[in-house]
Amino acid sequence: MNIDDEVLKEKLANAKILIVEDQPLNIIILQNILSPHYQVCAVHSGEEALEQCKTYTPDLIILDIKLPGIDGVETCKRLKNLPAVKNVPVLFITSFHQHEEYCWQAGGVDFIPKPIAENTVFNRVKAHLTIKLQRDKLLEMVFLDSLSQIYNRRYFDSHVKKIDLHAKREKEDYTLILLDIDFFKQFNDIYGHITADEALKKVAKTISNTLKRPSDFVARFGGEEFIVVLPGTNIKGGISVAENILKNINALNIPHDFSPLKHLTVSAGLATLENSQGQASVLQVADDKLYKAKQSGRNKLSF
Ligand code: GH3
Ligand code: MG
Ligand code: MG
Ligand code: MG
Repeated sequence: MNIDDEVLKEKLANAKILIVEDQPLNIIILQNILSPHYQVCAVHSGEEALEQCKTYTPDLIILDIKLPGIDGVETCKRLKNLPAVKNVPVLFITSFHQHEEYCWQAGGVDFIPKPIAENTVFNRVKAHLTIKLQRDKLLEMVFLDSLSQIYNRRYFDSHVKKIDLHAKREKEDYTLILLDIDFFKQFNDIYGHITADEALKKVAKTISNTLKRPSDFVARFGGEEFIVVLPGTNIKGGISVAENILKNINALNIPHDFSPLKHLTVSAGLATLENSQGQASVLQVADDKLYKAKQSGRNKLSF
């Protein structure tokens, strides 16, 4: 597979680097080398880095070993436990060779030796950023739907299995909401494929924007069908999200002459692990409920 050089160049230029270093002089040296090329942010301790990574996802982390509070190795181990940053490459900066084994074990990808040499920093950072961004791009190609820019069926299939196993192990609940655009064949017939594709994108975006928790996601399930996955969510929480989705899609007010409401709507079937016990699967129950929602007049949620 060939990844476009121009795309990679643009991604590199927008790459975000987090420096974790307690010595102000080293921060200045690193910033001077990297700031002309990337977006650079610096913090002074492991604790600050962990806090920062709750809201900010860098593409690469440069991590000092000797830090006040928790050291670099421990910081790296904890970063690797945060889902949003666990695949972000960590480059250690160190002057102690004997520390290297611990750094590898903690999940570091490479080292920058102290004293800091400009060329070494620049080239190592560029090499690891390139690998990281190419990996992101490949994952995007594998798991994103190119039309709607949300996850595809493949992503859903591989992730729902993990969520199901996790929920059963932890005795937690989770919710699936299967959504299907109403009278979409007629929408295509009346307005044409290009307008219909645009409507499909708007619906995908609206569903995505309605989801609030970082672990929630929506995937395109089929042609004009979407599946929402809400880990750790029971029926009450799931209903609230589903009602918001239907409300927000109604509010888009996309004209649809064939629809009794004269605008585009969706129907939804909802199932939770708890409520599906003893039945074929949560997905099968959501599908049965979707059928009921269609039968009962469309623009409805059934659970
Ligand atoms: P219902 O209310 O029962 O869901 O009826 P419907 O017309 O939405 O359902 P049906 O399954 O009969 O038709 C789905 C249609 O959705 C078929 C196709 O015209 C349209 N469709 C599916 N995928 C796409 C797509 O990617 N782009 C466009 N433009 N249309 C699509
Ligand atoms: Mg230090
Ligand atoms: Mg359908
Ligand atoms: Mg439909």
